Amino acid sequence: MSDGPVVVIGLGTMGRPLALTLTRAGFDVVGSDVSPEALKAFSSAGGRGVSLEQVPVTEARAVVTMLPEGRDVRQLYESAVLGAARPGTLLIDCSTIDVSTTAALAAEASGQGLEMVDAPVSGGPEGAASGALSFMVGGSEDGVERAMPYLQAAGSRVMWFGPSGSGQAAKACHNLIVGITGLAVFEGFALAEALGLDAARFHELCSGAAAACWTLEHRCPVPGVVADAPSSNGYEPGFAAALMAKDLRLAQQAAGSVGCATEFGSLAAERFAAFVERYGGSRDYSAIYQIIRSGADS
Ligand code: NAD
Repeated sequence: MSDGPVVVIGLGTMGRPLALTLTRAGFDVVGSDVSPEALKAFSSAGGRGVSLEQVPVTEARAVVTMLPEGRDVRQLYESAVLGAARPGTLLIDCSTIDVSTTAALAAEASGQGLEMVDAPVSGGPEGAASGALSFMVGGSEDGVERAMPYLQAAGSRVMWFGPSGSGQAAKACHNLIVGITGLAVFEGFALAEALGLDAARFHELCSGAAAACWTLEHRCPVPGVVADAPSSNGYEPGFAAALMAKDLRLAQQAAGSVGCATEFGSLAAERFAAFVERYGGSRDYSAIYQIIRSGADS
């Protein structure tokens, strides 16, 4: 199916720049969101946004979702997608959700003649805005081939891991690493500051040494060290702490399903869950640094 618009649902931190990147790449994109603010921000940035009731799912060639959790994707699919899309419509879910919900929804979609591909991402809003995301993909060979033009337009790397749910499995393992290394970076900076080291100089050291990693480069937790890091902007996400807590919970769920012990992943999951419960989850995950630094929860 080559005609019809590409519908993008979920225009938050990631979905908005993703939809705009697809628009710039020449696709006829229609975006939607439950939040009027998100719709407004999308339209102000030049996107074509419509309310959920007006989304042209019946005419869409592809429906791309970028939603917070598995229950959001299920709710949307059940209320607006599965019964409405034409047979042959491609469903690409870029949200980070659990493997079992993905597999169940893919089977339900297949029963309606729809192909669903899971394609969670890494690279943050900056990657979505510049078309430099990494996509971790699961689905049939045919589905993944059909999804390629969209994924390649928004990503610099598209990696297929196998059948439905494999992209989510890769993402769970990936974010287990990001969660643990994030805490290591934040703890390292808390100790460096407590020892009286200059944060910017310490950052310069780590960037060119063995401690270098994505969190260090893009999510330095000390305000003013990296100009466009969330910490330099009041810890506005970025990647919300609630999403980090969710991803680490998903990783623990995946580990439990195969009896794999992930000790540090489990500690990181507990730490972020406690942070979100006590301080809220809307700020960037690097805001946990302030608590580590103050020793408030020790
Ligand atoms: P976000 O909360 O900023 O955006 C989610 C959007 O979905 C919101 O605008 C919300 O109003 C909308 N929404 C929720 N339920 C809806 C529904 N039923 N119908 C329509 N719209 C609905 O979240 P985000 O940071 O954009 O993350 C989206 C997904 O991408 C998450 O699964 C997250 O784990 C993943 N992700 C985020 C990042 C990041 O850096 N922010 C990086 C990689 C992956």
